[in-house]
Amino acid sequence: MRNILVIYTGGTIGMVKDVTSGALKPFDMQKIYEVLPVLRKINCNIETYQCDPIIDSSDMNADKWLLLASLIEDNYSKYDGFVILHGTDTMSYTASALSFLLKNLAKPIIITGSQLPLGMIRTDGRDNIISAVEIAANESVTIPEVCIFFDNKLYRGNRTTKINAEYFEAFYSGNLPSLAKVGINISYKQHLILPQPNDVLFVYHKLCNDVIIMKIHPAISKEYLNAISNIPNLKGIVMETYGSGNAPTNEWFLQGIKKIIDKGVMIMNVTQCKAGSVEMGHYQASCDLKDMGVISGRDITTEAALAKMMFVLGNFNDRKVQKELLNSNICGECSI
Ligand code: ASP
Repeated sequence: MRNILVIYTGGTIGMVKDVTSGALKPFDMQKIYEVLPVLRKINCNIETYQCDPIIDSSDMNADKWLLLASLIEDNYSKYDGFVILHGTDTMSYTASALSFLLKNLAKPIIITGSQLPLGMIRTDGRDNIISAVEIAANESVTIPEVCIFFDNKLYRGNRTTKINAEYFEAFYSGNLPSLAKVGINISYKQHLILPQPNDVLFVYHKLCNDVIIMKIHPAISKEYLNAISNIPNLKGIVMETYGSGNAPTNEWFLQGIKKIIDKGVMIMNVTQCKAGSVEMGHYQASCDLKDMGVISGRDITTEAALAKMMFVLGNFNDRKVQKELLNSNICGECSI
């Protein structure tokens, strides 16, 4: 029998009705079998861990990701798989960060949550938890990846984006199809799942917080770029550009970007589109960026690009190594 650790970080999923007041309040993870007795029918041993305090995922940050990574490291040999219950708002960021921090991951880490609390009749949380545990406990298919399971689909976590605040289909993976689909059976797409690593797990314990996301928009101004270039200690920018990597071509914009790069700040170009890739040099509007040394994020999501920058700039000091890593596919977050 597989041993699974279910970690509850917080978020909508864990809300249940207080029997006396009827109000929604966070559930006690120890009582998971009382809330979801059906979990006993899955052929695995479930143990639980509740983060203290539990948080709305809008309070997620680098320190909490490092704690989660350490928690998995400390429990890695004891369990065959991990399920993380997490708010949906920053789930894609957390999945991305863990995918970089946990090198040579050989066991499934399935992150899930819900749009409606477990305590509500039409909750999507019930099905999400059940399938996430089933996938983490599967003895014939072991997924050595940090995944998000949501609305009957298993995604590579660092390829996802939250796209809906209303419907159950909350996540989208525009550049990589789902790794598995749940229907009558769970059908896995083996050719998309990462291979088992050849080495043992290595956990990184640092992340750099001196990074920002800068969205290009038609009202962008010289003052905005100046303000960014004056941010103390800034080390990395995820620059969300138009379409296949395009940005304004006027002189003040290009000079502003050059000034930032000359200060030693790494800039990664990612697209604002939900699918497709940056192709710097395809249009004139991105040729200059390429010449200045802006790094192409290719088909990476903004969430994964931010986590990648925090990881690379936090753990490697040599600029050449940083550039090489930012240019490469580290853990399936982008296509080569
Ligand atoms: N605000 C909540 C969170 O992200 C929303 C959710 O769980 O869906 O923690």
